[in-house]
Amino acid sequence: MIKTSKTIVIGVVLLLALLIIVWSIHRIAPAWVEQQRNTLTGTAPQRVSDRARRLHQGLLVADLHGDSLLWGRDLGEMSDRGHLDLPRMRLGNLAIEVFSIVSKTPRGLNIHRNTGDSDDITPLSIVQGLPPRTWFSLPARVIYHANRLQDLAANPANRFRLLTSRADVSEFLKQRRKDPSITAGLLSIEGAHALDGRIEILDEFFDAGIRMVGLAHFFDNAVGGSAHGIKKGGLTPFGRRVIRRMEQRGMIVDLAHSSDKLINDVLAMARRPVVVSHTGARSVCNSPRNLTDDQLRRIAAAGGLIGVGFWPQATCGRGVAAIVRSLHYVSKLVGINHVVLGSDFDGAVPVPFDVTGLAQLTQGLLNAGFNESEIQNIMGVNLLRFFAEYLP
Ligand SMILES: [Zn+2]
Repeated sequence: MIKTSKTIVIGVVLLLALLIIVWSIHRIAPAWVEQQRNTLTGTAPQRVSDRARRLHQGLLVADLHGDSLLWGRDLGEMSDRGHLDLPRMRLGNLAIEVFSIVSKTPRGLNIHRNTGDSDDITPLSIVQGLPPRTWFSLPARVIYHANRLQDLAANPANRFRLLTSRADVSEFLKQRRKDPSITAGLLSIEGAHALDGRIEILDEFFDAGIRMVGLAHFFDNAVGGSAHGIKKGGLTPFGRRVIRRMEQRGMIVDLAHSSDKLINDVLAMARRPVVVSHTGARSVCNSPRNLTDDQLRRIAAAGGLIGVGFWPQATCGRGVAAIVRSLHYVSKLVGINHVVLGSDFDGAVPVPFDVTGLAQLTQGLLNAGFNESEIQNIMGVNLLRFFAEYLP
């Protein structure tokens, strides 16, 4: 009898210890992982003049790519880790962010060759305490994160709008003229592997508010090849169906991370302009991650947008001047109206500043000789115009 109760006590103590360990991992591990990944490049901040600050405060700033949903933070709260949350968007005067959902990344991820055999997002999702339905289903994982952004928009205290249509964009602009602290987001996914090869999932994603699809991420998928995959192939028959369905529904195609063949095939069949949400120019920074002059010209000639990235593999530099050099090169090559910001904030990359430092970029553009109207276009108006024209 005594022996039994002793066993029960030991059992309860062990169980409690286990619960404390699991709880600590859940609390500490995601923060620790993010602190290792979403870093700063460590270059000295660009000094911002009064003129640049005034100009920046008057801009409508928009960014075509960030991965902030991945890290499990409450984006309604100011955080001391990562690059972006809603309070920091306000401080940096960023009006619109595209929140891209990362659903699967291979272990040992690199920009040259990856298979889709392993996945680092599964353990991260489990450690973050995501619902079990999201652990082994990519569509469920995507919809869970889309709902998180929907919930953020549903809480009036966040003063945050989800943009899903042209009507949402014009309503947002109207509200923001009255209250400049209101910010907005658009939902995207990074990699069409999350469709699980099923076209009906695209409709489920549309219903969850997703309006942009990055066709590839780090490995080849059922839609087409990744620039970092094994075969790096073109568009598959399923991929063609996905493009046509996206066009019917007014969803935006994003060619970031796509293989050269996939880019060619999509440009050959697309009836609407496409974007490359976060990239660089190979002529400035020679990497398979970046675009050739020919690709940049064809995307722009079809009415599309190039989002210039902020991180060293996109620009081959670490400071504000490196981002400005790429923005300058691409705008001279394809025209000022086709260049936008594609920061990759919170995309497991180092950047020169978090979102609160965006005025440094306005200063950098002034230093490089851009006039105020050109700066307005690059910093946000180009992207706003695109959404106002091509969303449903
Ligand atoms: Zn990316």
